[in-house]
Amino acid sequence: MTAPAASRRVAVVGGGWAGLAAAVRACSLGHQVSLFEMAPQLGGRARSVTRDGLTLDNGQHILIGAYRDTLALMRQVGVDPAAVLHRQPLTLRYPDGSGLRLPPGPALPAFARGVLGWRDLPWRDRFGLLILAARWRLQGFRCPPSMTVAELARQCPPQAYRELIEPLCVAALNTPAEQASAQVLLTVLRDALFGAPGAADLLLPRAPLDALLPTAALEWLQAHGARVALSRRVMSIAVTDEAVTIDGEAFDHAIVATPPGEAARLLAKLAPEWSRGAAAFSYQPIITAWLRAPQARWSQPMMALRADGLRPAQFGFDLGALGGPEHTYAMVVSGAAAWVDAGTEATRAALMNQWEEAFPAVEHGAVEWLTSRTEKRATFACKPLLQRAPARVHRRVTVAGDHVQGPYPATLEGAVRSGLAAVQE
Ligand SMILES: Cc1cc2nc3c(=O)[nH]c(=O)nc-3n(C[C@H](O)[C@H](O)[C@H](O)COP(=O)(O)OP(=O)(O)OC[C@H]3O[C@@H](n4cnc5c(N)ncnc54)[C@H](O)[C@@H]3O)c2cc1C
Repeated sequence: MTAPAASRRVAVVGGGWAGLAAAVRACSLGHQVSLFEMAPQLGGRARSVTRDGLTLDNGQHILIGAYRDTLALMRQVGVDPAAVLHRQPLTLRYPDGSGLRLPPGPALPAFARGVLGWRDLPWRDRFGLLILAARWRLQGFRCPPSMTVAELARQCPPQAYRELIEPLCVAALNTPAEQASAQVLLTVLRDALFGAPGAADLLLPRAPLDALLPTAALEWLQAHGARVALSRRVMSIAVTDEAVTIDGEAFDHAIVATPPGEAARLLAKLAPEWSRGAAAFSYQPIITAWLRAPQARWSQPMMALRADGLRPAQFGFDLGALGGPEHTYAMVVSGAAAWVDAGTEATRAALMNQWEEAFPAVEHGAVEWLTSRTEKRATFACKPLLQRAPARVHRRVTVAGDHVQGPYPATLEGAVRSGLAAVQE
């Protein structure tokens, strides 16, 4: 901010998690905040939606224990993370009961014990995986910036690669391992798997996404005197010597917290080079499908699924076990570009086949397709050497969002951190 000590008029454009973080922070510092959101509700990509009479999330989200700033923001606006998130140690268990499960406790010993206890992985491979992880640690979790995850993990035992590295990569970076940035994955592994105790824990929402942040943030902002304008798309941003104007209204500072394409449009005149960079992103889709299976019985709320050219989904979630609609399951296809190309009908058929193969009707009863949702621009494609735009574009204008320069892939934590940083600038 240009002069954080004094109360200033601050406009935040975009009410996703980055914009909400920025608005709450600016308000906490005593600024007069106006938040503009073009949708009729807050939350952006991490919001609740109603489909075919069901309240669902825009897409299934997973948080992890390392989401320090997101959890702190939730607490600040009055949400108790323990009440809305189901916490469990990192578990990548498949329907046949195989897979990795980390025990609780300090990160390094927990990882070693988890790998040594991975029963269906041959002993040679368990040691191979531990040696590889030790090497990454000795190298300070750094690698050449041009390296892909597939190249980084070339010496990984093939089963550990398929059942741990590939799913972790696509879950965290939403980009297939052959295309994904090894450096970004190493940063995530450093902070999660080898971070503070509990950093690798999975935090699965057991309330609609709206209840995790957007609803409480709206109430908090209004109670603290902020103006929140919903269904209000900002069309123009201009800067004069005295002010930055949002559709003609004057402010001291503006934080543009829209997705990159819209930020590029809004800032094209003010910062043409910045806008060209932001407009050049490529994206990866995520498909979420919801199914109903009244007789299905899962041993855990989240299941890893074996994905390949015939099986789209990498993860499944038992929403009934997570406080959601009874007998309802979500299947998630991350890094879904190939399935979007294959088309809706082919993907639906492949998902139904995958379910029936993983959860045979003999044990789990019949399954019924409910609905699906494809977010074509779910996140930017997290590729090696990706140039991400900096947060500061002008003395009076900063940018926030999961796409802004930073060490993390497109995640809630990346969005929240960038929102907080946009106010500190
Ligand atoms: C299906 C799916 C699954 C995901 N899974 C996970 C996960 O498991 N874990 C995880 O951490 N992350 C996940 N993500 C990523 C996460 O949702 C995003 O990183 C995060 O929500 C981005 O927040 P943001 O505020 O940067 O952007 P957005 O959420 O896109 O917010 C931008 C806001 O700006 C508004 N806007 C745009 N233009 C204007 C304008 N001109 N005027 C006013 N308002 C405007 C938009 O309506 C929107 O509300 C997932 C994303 C998707 C889509």
